Amino acid sequence: VREVYPLLREIQSRLLMREVVRQELEQFQARINAQLELQTRREEELLINTQQRKQVELENKQLEVQLHTTSEQIIKMGVDQFTLKDPSSISKSNQQLADLKQLKVNLEEKIYSNMELLENLENEIPKIKKFIEGVQISIKEMEHERDQLKANKSIELTKNAELLQSAVSGLPPSQGQTVKSLINNQPTGKILTAIINGKQCGNCHMHIPPAVGQELDKFKAIIKCQTCGLILIPNT
Ligand SMILES: [Zn+2]
Repeated sequence: VREVYPLLREIQSRLLMREVVRQELEQFQARINAQLELQTRREEELLINTQQRKQVELENKQLEVQLHTTSEQIIKMGVDQFTLKDPSSISKSNQQLADLKQLKVNLEEKIYSNMELLENLENEIPKIKKFIEGVQISIKEMEHERDQLKANKSIELTKNAELLQSAVSGLPPSQGQTVKSLINNQPTGKILTAIINGKQCGNCHMHIPPAVGQELDKFKAIIKCQTCGLILIPNT
């Protein structure tokens, strides 16, 4: 079974290579996802901006009606005052008129400040839209780059998969089955591992009993680590 360990090393390196490519593509996709997230947040901002403007516009419409009514009341009261004779009625009417005029000033101020708020909100829109456009362009570019990367890597991965397959086929049937099931159970990770310094499992760093080490040194069989279940292969 001497030829088993080189095959296992070959399988190990093919699986690692597959994993490296998978991670590279995953990291690239994560960068795209971050941009998509940014786009969503800005789109939400745009939506909130629209809702706020609608609210302020509605409020101003109501205030304009109130202002119109108040102005008419002031005019009417001014006219009516000429008919008043006794001082207490005149004084009372003056107070009411003063209150109405103050109300009118307050309404005008509120309307004005709402208009300013509207202007600020409107000024924000092109900025947000421009930002979204920029993000969309960069997402498109990154997606294109990702697709190219995928296409390039796919050639590499196909070759890698063929070499993996041929190494697995080279194993004795029963061991090939063991390796295949390990590959299927851990499709993205490493399935084999080396003993470091002949004493530890290279994956979980558990101590390897001397008897197991001796057996491995004799190249006798596929032995799994009792702790992590990976196949142990000698370091040399
Ligand atoms: Zn282990």
